Amino acid sequence: MAEDVRPIVAFATHNAHKIDEVYDILRERVPGLERGHLLSAADADAPAPVECGISYQENALIKARALAERTGLPAIADDSGLSVDVMGGAPGIFSALWSGRHGDDRANLELLLAQMEDIPDANRQAAFVCAAVMVQPDGREIVEMGIMGGRLTREPAGAAGFGYDPIFVASGQCVTNAELEPDVKNAISHRGGAFRALAPHVAALLPRR
Ligand code: IMP
Repeated sequence: MAEDVRPIVAFATHNAHKIDEVYDILRERVPGLERGHLLSAADADAPAPVECGISYQENALIKARALAERTGLPAIADDSGLSVDVMGGAPGIFSALWSGRHGDDRANLELLLAQMEDIPDANRQAAFVCAAVMVQPDGREIVEMGIMGGRLTREPAGAAGFGYDPIFVASGQCVTNAELEPDVKNAISHRGGAFRALAPHVAALLPRR
């Protein structure tokens, strides 16, 4: 019953959209999981730590460790970005601030398209990568990775999603991520893959009935 639901895991994000997206991914694999089982960093009034890691995994672990320590609950976190082959994996962990303005999706996407202008269609491969992690208060850590391969377009298309979605066509698709229904994107996405792999560890936290 909803009134008995207590948080069992803290999620290191202040982004309500991301919590909803991850909850939708997890609940398909975790029977009995309710939205109230997830405590966000905002609910816990936890400040966002400085992400000074040099990989997706390290940055996700920095966020989860800080929240586990603050809340005393197991904490999950993710870190993700876009890695472009011909750019040696950039923007990578700098995806959110590639243009110099953190979180300015349009400026980030336009800079990347300009940098890629002379690169022919055959060499525009890229991948979204996500590290999803769980950190227990006793220090145990689990890291799961998800990857969505594809290619960059030359023009933005579509209004759904966020970030680089309007210029990315996933392998096996013929439209950009921003033209896909959210559940279709979740089924193939880097974040979906990483959190589905983490789901059994979340399920193990649910109280036994
Ligand atoms: P975060 O670690 O999930 O906050 O993602 C960092 C940045 O990577 C975002 O600001 C986006 O620019 C990019 N990114 C990560 N996942 C996606 C996605 O699913 N679609 C588009 N861009 C993404």
